[in-house]
Amino acid sequence: MELRFQPNLCFECEILCMKRCKYIKNPKEFLKVANGEFCEILEDCKNCYACEEFCPYENHPFYRIVELQEKFGVKKVSDEMMDTLEKRYAPEGEFRAKKLKKGLHICLFPEFKDLNKTKLFEGFEIVRGRHVFCNLLYLHYGRALIIKERSKKVLENLASLGFEELVLFHDECYSFYVSFLKAHGVNPEFQVKHLYEFFLELIAKGKTKKLNLKIAYQRPCSNRLNKTDKLFDEICKALGVERVKRRFDRENALCCGASFILSGDLDFARELQSKNIQDIAATNADYVVFLCPMCFATLKEKVKELGIKPMMVHELFEMALL
Ligand code: SF4
Ligand code: SF4
Repeated sequence: MELRFQPNLCFECEILCMKRCKYIKNPKEFLKVANGEFCEILEDCKNCYACEEFCPYENHPFYRIVELQEKFGVKKVSDEMMDTLEKRYAPEGEFRAKKLKKGLHICLFPEFKDLNKTKLFEGFEIVRGRHVFCNLLYLHYGRALIIKERSKKVLENLASLGFEELVLFHDECYSFYVSFLKAHGVNPEFQVKHLYEFFLELIAKGKTKKLNLKIAYQRPCSNRLNKTDKLFDEICKALGVERVKRRFDRENALCCGASFILSGDLDFARELQSKNIQDIAATNADYVVFLCPMCFATLKEKVKELGIKPMMVHELFEMALL
């Protein structure tokens, strides 16, 4: 699996990706990254995924950075923590494939295992566990090899289910298929569907009603890797939901801090959480809507303390179902 990165594009560009980064001091240093050399960017990068979205040429600056962090041994977590994380998500034993028609892939989140008992996902079978886990979270820790190594088996396991439709509940899993694999020249033999694509189909079938709500949206890092943000706008418009203005939304979204809690950088995690919460507090939203379960788990209690109700995005969809 080789990254499709073209250094020449960078040599002729104004380094647009790094100029928009919140953390890099010297954007021009990126030319060293393009050249495959070591530089401070590899150490200063917070692995927030944002530059992947900022490059107008889809040249994959973030994946390039991760590749070089790994090559030059730049550590985003201690060896001990990395070892723990690698073991925590490693598949164990054989994958028991059960043929299914319609699958709802819930990643590694057991709290959503009964979603197929709800009206929204009626008729779906739940797909979950380490054998079908994309492992994309290791990008936050400057590691791509482990994702590549495990990906072949993940693709085989999912293909063996023989589904006609697979809805991915976790945005990060969706990004694995439409961004990471694509950037590395891999085309899975099956198609996947984002939660937003699934819900837009329900809207088109006339199965929803207007809600007339104001929501603040917590956009996750993984959403930088796919193009579904505009689909959420379409959904909001169709449901009469106002996505209120936030400083940290859309291309200026700010990580919830979850990956830094896992890596032990608690001060930075607290800083990110506090900035997000202050930003949400400045809105007049009725609800804070989360796409990512990790962001939800990280920020929900602090959102409640503001007197605003936090909810996962599928709960918003459930409210809108006729
Ligand atoms: S990755 Fe994209 S935006 Fe960044 S320097 Fe290269 S071409 Fe320009
Ligand atoms: S991943 Fe985030 S922190 Fe790292 S260079 Fe890109 S925008 Fe900057």
